[in-house]
Amino acid sequence: MTGLGSYLGASILVLGTVFSHASLAAESPKPMDYLQDLAGEKGIGARVAGSEGEQRAAAYIEQQWIDQGLSPYSSSFNINDETLSKNIIVDLKGQSDKTLIIAAHYDSTGAKEGSVGATDNASSVAALLALSHNLRNQMLTANIRFIAFGAEEIGLLGSKAYVKQLSREELANIVGMINLDTIVGGDNLYIHSAHPEPYKCNGDAQYYSSDTSLRDSVLKQAQSGFTPNPFSKHPPFPGYPEGTTGGWSDHAPFACAGVPIAYIEATNFSINGKDGYDGYSQSTNGALWDCFADDKMSACDREKEQKWGDIWHSEFDRLDKLLPLFGERIELQLQQNIQLLTDFVSSNYTQ
Ligand SMILES: [Zn+2]
Repeated sequence: MTGLGSYLGASILVLGTVFSHASLAAESPKPMDYLQDLAGEKGIGARVAGSEGEQRAAAYIEQQWIDQGLSPYSSSFNINDETLSKNIIVDLKGQSDKTLIIAAHYDSTGAKEGSVGATDNASSVAALLALSHNLRNQMLTANIRFIAFGAEEIGLLGSKAYVKQLSREELANIVGMINLDTIVGGDNLYIHSAHPEPYKCNGDAQYYSSDTSLRDSVLKQAQSGFTPNPFSKHPPFPGYPEGTTGGWSDHAPFACAGVPIAYIEATNFSINGKDGYDGYSQSTNGALWDCFADDKMSACDREKEQKWGDIWHSEFDRLDKLLPLFGERIELQLQQNIQLLTDFVSSNYTQ
């Protein structure tokens, strides 16, 4: 795809004709193509933090943004003494100094189990690339900053490094952070806010924010954009009040720094999973369980169950397994996420 784009660009220059941006846009990749490039059979594949696969994914994301006519930049951080990872960032300039961040991690985990991180989290990276494509020529009020975080799976290293270098003044200009992590595959599309109880925050939770306003605005947009509306808050369960989530993804360092967050995730909080109702079991699909009991919304035998309805980090997180199991759900959910966030930015941050 990148090759084709460059070829078209070159021939247009050579011909010196009047091809408009619109005719180029017609050639732009589809979201499922981004997903295939990252996690398909002939794609980049596993992107374990610090690996060559992660570096190839970073280069791919940067190149896609360049091909969209944008100017991405990156910022490296240490995984350990010898190994680096990086965040890739691109800004769509708005008219004010306020910034909305939309972010997704691009590394993966579970390579040994056979995962190539198709849902977790190539799906969200595909959405980021499609969103920047959709929004790049809009007249924006606030800046929209897209960030592809590295090394999320080994301790949120990319997002922690990013937040750490922001001053209080810069943080005050960030109106919110929308985290996309595993936005396809699971049974339901949820929009979460941060948990009312502060996350660990490296022992310093003085700025912690569980502000629900960004989550609620995105939910409101979903209400007006879809019939039926596939997005919801998860119902209340022990340990997780309605619509709130744990500190296990890149939203957490932002909540710790006082930024309102919204976090979109495809999973199923109604399943009584290995550790209760925490959204870790993503689907009731029987193929993801040794045995699933509909009446209990849990494993037939909790002692014997091994698979627990997980897609992420497992043998199922690859397109050759997901597409036969879930069919059109994968593409539909991807499109719904992209539509929601395109509409959300267009309704709230354009002139
Ligand atoms: Zn993830």
